[in-house]
Amino acid sequence: MSDVAVGLDVGGTKALALLVSRDGEILDELRSSTPHDAQEPAGVATAKVLVSQIETLAQRHGLDPVTLPIGIGMPGMVRRDGRLAFAPNLHSASGASFPELLHDLLGACAVHMENDGNCAALAEFAWGAGQGIDNFVMVTLGTGIGGGIIANGELVRGQNGFGGEIGHMAVEARGALCGCGGQGCWERYASGGGLARLTTQWASEGRLPTLTSRRGSAANVSGEDVTRAASEGLDEAVALMNEVAWWLARGLANLVAILDTGHFVIGGGLSVAADLLLPPARDYLADLVFGYAKRPQIVVTTSRLTVHAGALGAAKVALDRQP
Ligand SMILES: [Zn+2]
Repeated sequence: MSDVAVGLDVGGTKALALLVSRDGEILDELRSSTPHDAQEPAGVATAKVLVSQIETLAQRHGLDPVTLPIGIGMPGMVRRDGRLAFAPNLHSASGASFPELLHDLLGACAVHMENDGNCAALAEFAWGAGQGIDNFVMVTLGTGIGGGIIANGELVRGQNGFGGEIGHMAVEARGALCGCGGQGCWERYASGGGLARLTTQWASEGRLPTLTSRRGSAANVSGEDVTRAASEGLDEAVALMNEVAWWLARGLANLVAILDTGHFVIGGGLSVAADLLLPPARDYLADLVFGYAKRPQIVVTTSRLTVHAGALGAAKVALDRQP
């Protein structure tokens, strides 16, 4: 039984590969960009990038890729058999079976798949901000919202393995269109992508006059402009961050109602703006959570494993699922 595993976190733009020990120590790290090559069969271009990462790590540490446990976290619906059923932000890989592809390309025999948000939740549960907390929800604020639910000390995988897709919970019944084909999904309001969308909307409505004049036109104002200006105290930017915080709290309140969870771990790219988002979001929870006054204090904290959470969790999956 191997005491190290490779954890791969495959996002819409980049793939992070870590070599991880059984106690969660990161022994090595590689980063590559993710191809979006629709010319090749589903997932082949992505799989080739992963193969090269695994080969490099295996060579550097004298490991055999055939027997090395490999875990892959993917942004999308990952079936229990390891096939990626649907990936709204990685269309070229939708339908691919990465365990089969890595077996064909590399001879790898110990490849395990899990949704990337679920991976992050497992890593935070084992080694991060969720350590020792049997009921918490990992919320990853990136281009979309990923997530993983730990309930009664177990990851909620659901009937097919698709559990924890909290970003596609509708928070506005006839709201903004989503990459999943739905409408009003939480990730269109409270993620980095949601901030970008709201920024464009607010700028076009004339609600970001200072930023619009600084950037020359409404179309040039970005989500990063808003977070930067908000941290400097510009009122219109603070107001927009408060709007995003309200939407964040709206979704968290729904999760509290369903799961009776009292603890949230917030990660992903937008969590760099946690100082702007989390204090107002905590205040909004008081209005939005069902029976708020009758509950213990709801904790909303940031990820401790940050950018490594997904890949660490993928490695944990591979180590735990070794035969
Ligand atoms: Zn959606």
